[in-house]
Amino acid sequence: MALILKSIKLSCMQTNCYLVFDSEKKNALVVDPGEYNQALENMLKENKIEKLDYILLTHGHFDHILGTKKLSDNFGGKIVIHKDDEICLRDKTYSLSSPYASGEAVCKADILVADGDKLPFASRDITVIHTPGHTKGGVCYLLENMLFSGDTLFKGTVGRSDFPGGDYKTLLSSAAKLTRLEGNYNVYPGHEDFTTLEEERWSNPYCQ
Ligand SMILES: [Zn+2]
Ligand SMILES: [Zn+2]
Repeated sequence: MALILKSIKLSCMQTNCYLVFDSEKKNALVVDPGEYNQALENMLKENKIEKLDYILLTHGHFDHILGTKKLSDNFGGKIVIHKDDEICLRDKTYSLSSPYASGEAVCKADILVADGDKLPFASRDITVIHTPGHTKGGVCYLLENMLFSGDTLFKGTVGRSDFPGGDYKTLLSSAAKLTRLEGNYNVYPGHEDFTTLEEERWSNPYCQ
């Protein structure tokens, strides 16, 4: 069964939200539902997804998590986040959502992950890579040839490190950790364009 990937931009930050499912539609997951709206619901319904296995959160910023509660209420899915960003699901100060005053961030994580953890999905493993620097509990998820890089690695650059919990040097070592992965991956970042790890190895000044 091949894996199929769809994406949509959500929230005022135009955050990339991803839907991955196998061709038989037995397993499905969503990465970073920054908002729950009709477009997200339509993406699931159009692809005949009735139930999610996971909602994977790359980190706890509001533009990546605010749709989590409604999405899991409507489609299920274990909520997965790194233990150091879990507080963002409960506390608006940490998710930076205070100015947006939305109550829907409040939810409970089902799985708290750490570096190297593996989650079974569609006869494969999702591997968790802890990549702090943008936030303390930022992670990337590896699944087959896909790398969901959150706000750690973007096409040609890296994420901001000036938010609470961020640290520039740590972010650079996280980018280097990704660069050192063997082989090539399609990189699906939290914002802007998709890229590949090989392209970033050669062209991204923060990956040198
Ligand atoms: Zn962020
Ligand atoms: Zn973001």
